[in-house]
Amino acid sequence: MCVSSCKASRRRVCTLQGSAIRGHQFAEQAGGREHKFDPALLLSGLTRQFSTFTRNEAGLPVVWHPAYSAPLLPSSHRFPMKIFQTIYDRLLETKVVRPEQVHIPVELPSMEQMSLVHDPEYVREFCEGTLSAASLRRIGLPWSPVLVTRTLAEVAGTLLTAELALEYGLACNTAGGTHHAFRDFGSGFCIINDLAVTSAVLLERGAVSRVLIVDLDVHQGDGTAAILAHEPRVFTMSVHAASNFPAKKQRSDLDVPLPDGLADEEYLAVVADHLPRVLTDFRPDLVLYDAGVDPHKDDSLGRLSLTDAGLFQRERMVFDTCLAFGVPVAAYVGGGYSTDLDVLAARHCFLHQAATEVYAHHHF
Ligand SMILES: [Zn+2]
Repeated sequence: MCVSSCKASRRRVCTLQGSAIRGHQFAEQAGGREHKFDPALLLSGLTRQFSTFTRNEAGLPVVWHPAYSAPLLPSSHRFPMKIFQTIYDRLLETKVVRPEQVHIPVELPSMEQMSLVHDPEYVREFCEGTLSAASLRRIGLPWSPVLVTRTLAEVAGTLLTAELALEYGLACNTAGGTHHAFRDFGSGFCIINDLAVTSAVLLERGAVSRVLIVDLDVHQGDGTAAILAHEPRVFTMSVHAASNFPAKKQRSDLDVPLPDGLADEEYLAVVADHLPRVLTDFRPDLVLYDAGVDPHKDDSLGRLSLTDAGLFQRERMVFDTCLAFGVPVAAYVGGGYSTDLDVLAARHCFLHQAATEVYAHHHF
């Protein structure tokens, strides 16, 4: 396992022809019919750039931190804090990920970095444990010093995943996607918005000019949308169940509210319809992908009806489409709710399995 910094090994070019063909092939496979997935649209995107990524000899970069599951919650608590460790253990046990692929962030985010998108006073109060009881109730997690470490480690992991994606083309975190965190308050188990912080840090650093956040968690990415509402360099896209939490929706750059019960074919058609258009119009340098698995039919907080196969196809579609445009993708596990952590972890691991397949295809 490597404590991460990105090491170049040798350069490879993601070819125009190979990527375009791959994207089109997948479109035809998804749901057994064409999802308005126009190869001409892909090609128009590809004329912009040939993306050059470093080949990572170890394989798909995967980010993990021992603090991800550290806080102890009552067994009755709705938030499955242990799931991140369960995901990590499963990835290693099933040999989807080998230890040498794992990167651990070494630096927690600074106050300056978090304050790019958050109220410094809010961040300070959270870190010092002086948030009001009402604020903590809205977050839904009991405060502890371990929760602070865990929260900051998750932001650090999300940033590191994005850095690895910029270098290697594709990278996955084993946590991340705290999209209900707003500038000066948290909600829905989210405290610091890792997607917004990461976007802002990379923009300030000059590492990217435009970031696309693709949020396919079943809940709207309301905090992300609100924080970045006036940031033209970040495009927020949220595909979510219209009737689900949060009751009061924010305005993303693109919101796609879905009716309850939507199943695989229709859902995949929606994603296949919108994602290439956004990539074409916005031309991002990086995609941050919140791959919540709560659209699954058996999720205890979702209202959609995706199957395991549908979720897996969704991950393949997002990766294939973005890489066909030459845009690197950093992927985050997002939400997912079940009392059976093994079943839930298996759902989350579709992300890493799909990424592993796509990474092998695009790089070797
Ligand atoms: Zn969710």
